[in-house]
Amino acid sequence: MNPVSPCLPNADPWLAHTVRIASITDEIQDVATYRLEFVDAAIADEFSFLPGQFNMLYLPGVGEAAISISSDPQQRGVLDHTVRVAGNVTGELARLNAGATFGLRGPFGSAWPIDECVGGDVVIVTGGIGLAPLRPAIHELLNRRDECGQLTLLYGAREPSGLLYTNEFDDWRQRGFDVAVTVDRGTDAWKGNVGVVPQLLDRMPLENPEQTTVLCCGPEVMMWFAARSALGRGVPAERIWVSLERNMNCAIGLCGHCQFGPSFICKDGPVLRYDQVAPLLRVEGF
Ligand SMILES: Cc1cc2nc3c(=O)[nH]c(=O)nc-3n(C[C@H](O)[C@H](O)[C@H](O)COP(=O)(O)OP(=O)(O)OC[C@H]3O[C@@H](n4cnc5c(N)ncnc54)[C@H](O)[C@@H]3O)c2cc1C
Repeated sequence: MNPVSPCLPNADPWLAHTVRIASITDEIQDVATYRLEFVDAAIADEFSFLPGQFNMLYLPGVGEAAISISSDPQQRGVLDHTVRVAGNVTGELARLNAGATFGLRGPFGSAWPIDECVGGDVVIVTGGIGLAPLRPAIHELLNRRDECGQLTLLYGAREPSGLLYTNEFDDWRQRGFDVAVTVDRGTDAWKGNVGVVPQLLDRMPLENPEQTTVLCCGPEVMMWFAARSALGRGVPAERIWVSLERNMNCAIGLCGHCQFGPSFICKDGPVLRYDQVAPLLRVEGF
């Protein structure tokens, strides 16, 4: 079972807390990381989250959007969200400057199963902005580096300009992650791998597949191929985890917007075991 934790115990899940934008880092085109701080110091002290969880960002007069937390869970007081402009809320967020305030509810949802990862090898397979919800897991695994076996990040984007957090890769490598990157289409300046990210998994040596955990986030077709590859290499089905996205409203399993078969992505997910969701992943309409 993956961990699920309401991190503000006894708090009203409907209540949005006011946050201020402390800083904005432009990542790639139409994607920026917003570092947020709670205006209420008591909430700031109490707030914690698990890697893989998300918050609902509430822009008054516009609406709410589910956005994963992208910072290190152990770094108290640092709360990052990496956001791609997609529509109303994210478009309005992109018009705000540092110092602006809005509302935040959360954290919600299930987390990457870090306790199940430690003791074995971990392969993270991700594409595009899918690296954002996995960045807290990378930090958490690096925080527990001594307890883990081999750590590998396989990351892909359509083109080099679509790769997130590239200035952090050297630090992650130095601290113990093998980082392999690929793009669907190279440029004249690109000297790295060209091809889709599951191919990196097909090619990498897996020394202990039965002790390897695969964490996957990105387009569903990519996760499906990555899971097929991992299963074919001998990784047990119960060690493959995916993070799913569905439109959601309430975030607490009441409204049914994010229903996925018998699960609600907001409260049973977004992180789910692949073998529990695989039958629905390729069904149109789910
Ligand atoms: C658990 C979870 C975690 C997530 N984490 C992140 C994250 O870390 N970063 C991130 O960037 N996103 C993340 N998302 C996705 C994000 O929640 C969606 O992109 C969200 O819909 C954005 O809200 P919005 O109001 O800006 O977009 P919306 O206005 O809801 O628009 C979303 C989509 O609908 C289309 N659309 C909007 N209005 C119309 C219309 N009238 N007719 C037709 N199409 C329309 C838009 O073009 C767009 O493609 C996450 C989603 C989930 C469920």
